[in-house]
Amino acid sequence: MVKAEKCTSCGVPLLGKGTSAFKCPQCGENIVGRCSQCREQSVKYTCGKCGFTGP
Ligand SMILES: [Zn+2]
Ligand SMILES: [Zn+2]
Repeated sequence: MVKAEKCTSCGVPLLGKGTSAFKCPQCGENIVGRCSQCREQSVKYTCGKCGFTGP
């Protein structure tokens, strides 16, 4: 399990349920955080390390 402090897309703190965090699928180094809202709306994220963008 990986953890992120903030949603990568909108920057809200990741607290509670419905949030997720995972390693960037491209570089595998940066942790991408997603809040429940961004997950529902499939908001895109950008890896701060390699610039990978994904839904
Ligand atoms: Zn978000
Ligand atoms: Zn990356």
